[in-house]
Amino acid sequence: MERINITRVKMINTHPNGIGFGIVKVETSEPGLWGIGCATGVRRYATLTTAVEEYLDPLLRGKDPDNIEDIWQTVNLSSYWRNGPILNTVLAGLDQALWDIKGKRAGLPVYRLLGGKCRFAVDCYGHASGGDMPALKDSIARLREQGFRHIRIQLGAYGSPQLAKPNPDFRAAGFGAASDTVAEIRPYMKIVPKIFEMARTEFGDEPEFLHDIHEMLPPIDAINLVKELEQYRPFFIEDPFSPEDIAYFKILRQQTACPIAMGELFNNPQEWLGLITDRLIDFIRIHLSQIGGITPAMKVARLAEWFNVRTAWHGPGNTSPIGHVGQAHIDLAIWNFGIQEQVHWGPETHEVFSGLPKFENGYMVVNEAPGFGVELDEAAAAKYPLPDEPWFRPIVRRPDGTPVRP
Ligand code: MG
Repeated sequence: MERINITRVKMINTHPNGIGFGIVKVETSEPGLWGIGCATGVRRYATLTTAVEEYLDPLLRGKDPDNIEDIWQTVNLSSYWRNGPILNTVLAGLDQALWDIKGKRAGLPVYRLLGGKCRFAVDCYGHASGGDMPALKDSIARLREQGFRHIRIQLGAYGSPQLAKPNPDFRAAGFGAASDTVAEIRPYMKIVPKIFEMARTEFGDEPEFLHDIHEMLPPIDAINLVKELEQYRPFFIEDPFSPEDIAYFKILRQQTACPIAMGELFNNPQEWLGLITDRLIDFIRIHLSQIGGITPAMKVARLAEWFNVRTAWHGPGNTSPIGHVGQAHIDLAIWNFGIQEQVHWGPETHEVFSGLPKFENGYMVVNEAPGFGVELDEAAAAKYPLPDEPWFRPIVRRPDGTPVRP
């Protein structure tokens, strides 16, 4: 096969259906041969765009796109300081685009380059949520009708803020911003066992139920809650502790056999190595663009296989569609796949991206085209520009105003 070169690396930002996506596109010296990858997650679009266009592009022009490992290492070391979310995110977009190019050149879908299918499709969990018990029950019932075997159950937003006193003390005192929300510890801790009890009573023993604590509790309260939930046989409980508190996983493990998922905020291998090799978690939940893409994710998956830790890659709506597809190709090929997150794409997103997977009976089914099989319509992407105002995550506070670290 003739040697080809990278001729351009650029960022395409788009905001279809009100969700921002950063997509790295790598163009090559072969006419019509390009790849795309997901560089979305931290929502610092201007910073990411600068990193792609001012740093990746000049570094990579003229390089052979076939040498993915060497390019990954070269970019990772290119500024000496590494493992941060900005560099990792653009590296992830680049890395995925290179796998897309490799698949297109080989005439094979990427999962076949990663080892071929180890399962026929990607089993997914649906998101059930409601502001109160009847609404949550209806939400679970709808997902069961759609065929989902795994369902995440949440009563409202993370930490069930609707159960807190309506006018928190910090707001009454004029402290914090109007957009800040409140997380009270006791009402949330009391309600979560009740939603599991409702789910088991109404839907029986067959469905697998999941819940995301989203680091809304002090560590010792999270331990108490997880112990109480064990009786309902959750599929997993997610993010009991923030990354700053990972030493608590050892204490948690000594007290309960409840399955645990963790990892969406991780950037540095030191954050997940010990959790996997000490068998302190059951599902590794890394966000692929936070660690640098497909190449490092495959290394994580292979490491985790030998400790029988399964994958549950982080797949929220603000992971771009090409990012979800990349995860699905890994999910098909690795032995220790656990579960994947369901996602909905609106009509504007389907206008920008074509060739996206289908959801059938709770499974994600990718198309069989070479590479990732996803086309990005740049003219359609330009119809949905990013908003002028930067995005800031609302701060979640305790009633006295103390910020909660998610
Ligand atoms: Mg989470």
